[in-house]
Amino acid sequence: MAVYNLGSIHADWFYKVPRFPVNGETIPAANCVSGLGGKGANQSVALARAGAEVHHIGAIGGEGVWAAEQMKSAGVDVTHVAIQIAAPTGHALIFVTPDGENRIVICPGTNRMIEASDIKAALARAQAGDMLVMQNETNGQVEAAKRARARGMRVIYSAAPFDVTAVQAVLPHVDLLAVNEVEAEQVAAALDVPITALPVPELLVTHGPRGASWHDLKTGETLTVPAPKVVAVDTTGAGDTFVGYFCAGRDAGLPVAECLELAVAAAALKVTREGTADAIPSLKEVRSFLA
Ligand code: ADP
Repeated sequence: MAVYNLGSIHADWFYKVPRFPVNGETIPAANCVSGLGGKGANQSVALARAGAEVHHIGAIGGEGVWAAEQMKSAGVDVTHVAIQIAAPTGHALIFVTPDGENRIVICPGTNRMIEASDIKAALARAQAGDMLVMQNETNGQVEAAKRARARGMRVIYSAAPFDVTAVQAVLPHVDLLAVNEVEAEQVAAALDVPITALPVPELLVTHGPRGASWHDLKTGETLTVPAPKVVAVDTTGAGDTFVGYFCAGRDAGLPVAECLELAVAAAALKVTREGTADAIPSLKEVRSFLA
C-alpha cells in the first residue's frame, strides 16, 4: 500500500551550545550546521528508509528546492510538494546541549500555506487501505483527514507540537494518535478524559529512553517495548523516526509488536547521531542493529 504524508518541511539550523542561555543572556555556539528537518519531512524520510512507498504533501518557498531534492533522493515522492513564493520555507532554530537535550523555535513559513486543491489532487490517487499521516506543523489536517476517510484510508495523527484547537478539530477523524508522554497528558487534559479513554481507536505513546507503548483503546490491549540502551547525542527527530518506522511496518502488514520493535530500534539509532532527516537510519541498519 502507499503512505501519503501531509507534512512540514524545514531547514533545520543546529546550534551546539554548552548549555541553554537564560533570560537576557547571549552565549556563543560551539558550532552550527544546517540540514533537512520538519516533522513531516523527517517522517517521510523515515517511512521511505523503512521501505514504504511515500508521497509527501507540502509546500516550500522558492529558496527551499534543495529540501525537496533531498527528500527525493531519500526515496520520497515530492510531486505534491508545491512551491509558494509568498513566504519563506519553514525553518527551525535548534539548540542542542552536550547531554543531547534540545530546545527548538520554528518559523512555519510555507508549511501553513498548503492549498486545499493540492491536498485534493494528491489524495485523488490514494486507494482504500492506504495511509494518511499528519502532524501539527501544517494547515489542512481536517480537510485531508475527511478526504482520506472518505476514500477508505487509515488516518495517523502525530499531535505534535501540541495545539489544543488542532487536536479537538482533528481527533474525530483519526484512526491512530501518536504522541510522546507530555503530549499524551496535554491531549487528555484538553479533552478532560484519562489517557486510556481518549476518543481514538489506537494510541501510540513514546516514553523517551524508556521505549514506547501501543494501546488498542477499544479492546484495552496494550503492548510495551523498552528502548535499547544507547549513548544519546541528539534526540531531535527521534519521535519522527519512531512514527515513520511504525507506520511503514503497519503499512507493510507487520504485527504491531514487530512494528514497535523496529521503531524503537530505529529511533535509538537516530539518537546516537547528530542531525535530523539525514541521520535517520535505513531498514538495513536497523535490522543489523537488532541482529
Ligand atoms: P519525542 O522525540 O517526540 O519527544 P520521545 O522523547 O518519547 O519522543 O522519543 C521517541 C522515541 O525515541 C522513544 O520511544 C524511543 O524509542 C526513542 N528514544 C528517545 N530517546 C532515547 C534514548 N535516550 N535512548 C534510546 N531511545 C530513545
